[in-house]
Amino acid sequence: MDLGICDKCGHFEGRCKCGKGKIVLKSDLRIKISKFLSGLLRHFPQSFGLRIDEEGWVYLDEVERILKDRYGIGRLEIELIVKFDKKGRFEIRDNKIRARYGHSIDVKTDWSESDEIPDKLYHATHPKNLKSILNVGLLPMKRREVHMCDNTRDAIEVGKRHCNNPILLEINAKEMLKSGFKIRKKGSVYTTDHVPPEFIRVLG
Ligand SMILES: [Zn+2]
Repeated sequence: MDLGICDKCGHFEGRCKCGKGKIVLKSDLRIKISKFLSGLLRHFPQSFGLRIDEEGWVYLDEVERILKDRYGIGRLEIELIVKFDKKGRFEIRDNKIRARYGHSIDVKTDWSESDEIPDKLYHATHPKNLKSILNVGLLPMKRREVHMCDNTRDAIEVGKRHCNNPILLEINAKEMLKSGFKIRKKGSVYTTDHVPPEFIRVLG
């Protein structure tokens, strides 16, 4: 959907309520820039000379300069992309920006309080991984963390990126936390370092 700004309605996605708002970023360019920004902050900040701290933060000015060169956009467009990102991939704080999750570079992120974590989480995977998962649990593969969703539909959608018939797993997050394991909430995604097999139930 397009992103825009209106004197009366403020920032909006699609169309604003009064209908007088101005579109500042068309849907197709928005998707392109979101993808690039996600790669930039998760995987290749150094390729563009970005200085990234140990928690994954980079200066918004530096990101703005790169996106201006490549796409001719400015601060407003970046703020709109971050605000309306459906997967909550980005956050802006104190003139800095970072990806909330999904890094392949080494970054530290904070653990969440247990009341932010639902009792049950879900993860879908290729059937060929099942045997190993039931033996050793869920381990991060190419990414640095195990990713989980708070509903089955999203989990299956993620699983389908890797195969047509993913196996759905239910993770007993409540028991994990009780046993002293930690989980992070990052936007609409939940991550952890390892899920031992005793907390995993195969839903099929
Ligand atoms: Zn309006």
